Amino acid sequence: MSYQVPANSPYVPCPRCQGLNVTPVKFTWWGGAVGPRILKLVKCQQCGLSYKGKTGQSPTRDIVIYTVVIFAIVFALSLLATI
Ligand SMILES: [Zn+2]
Repeated sequence: MSYQVPANSPYVPCPRCQGLNVTPVKFTWWGGAVGPRILKLVKCQQCGLSYKGKTGQSPTRDIVIYTVVIFAIVFALSLLATI
């Protein structure tokens, strides 16, 4: 199965229901307003699935990487602040 980007949409169809009615995710609990934009996260309006709009892949792995990186940055800054 391949995910071809339709000419009228910048995103691939929903990998679960093949729906084309997807909208960009504006805000998430793990990434605020920035995280979903970096991952180009979209949400299917038909079945509610969130996925990466360019590839149709699950964002789970990227969310983990993103939160680890953010945590590391915050941790490093808090260390610097105590010096
Ligand atoms: Zn769907």
